[in-house]
Amino acid sequence: MSFIDRAARTVFLTELVSGLALTFKYMFKPTVTLNYPYEKGPLSPRFRGEHALRRYPNGEERCIACKLCEAICPAQAITIEAEPRDDGSRRTTRYDIDMVKCIYCGYCQEACPVDAIVEGPNFEFSTETREELLYDKQKLLANGDRWETELAANLAADAPYR
Ligand code: SF4
Ligand code: SF4
Repeated sequence: MSFIDRAARTVFLTELVSGLALTFKYMFKPTVTLNYPYEKGPLSPRFRGEHALRRYPNGEERCIACKLCEAICPAQAITIEAEPRDDGSRRTTRYDIDMVKCIYCGYCQEACPVDAIVEGPNFEFSTETREELLYDKQKLLANGDRWETELAANLAADAPYR
């Protein structure tokens, strides 16, 4: 760049003007950033977030303790214990997921014959200690109760492709 060009740019503040022009150009365009956590982007119905155990509308647990999810889990993150109830039905007495081991592959959800264990839309479950990520049955059922509306909607949206 010649001396005259540089002098002209300095005198007429061309860099400053072009920078301001760019600012004004984008000032009136739709914003592409989100003001997280107050704004959140769309999530796919197949998003694999925090796990939940679902119930039937009458409140009965869906899980029938078949242990398919435990068997298929590649991280061996699921631990299930079960015994028959007085009415002969089979239900879990223990259902733990070590969320630290979990790799969020979704195999447990795929293996479940009754849509009991699912991965929901919640991705905001960070903790300060590892122990808080050792989920037991009560925690998983509570997640299911909390997210049932969204879980059912996601399963319905994905049903034609399964
Ligand atoms: S998402 Fe995958 S790794 Fe996590 S508990 Fe289910 S099967 Fe195991
Ligand atoms: S969550 Fe589903 S796959 Fe796992 S033990 Fe219960 S019924 Fe079987």
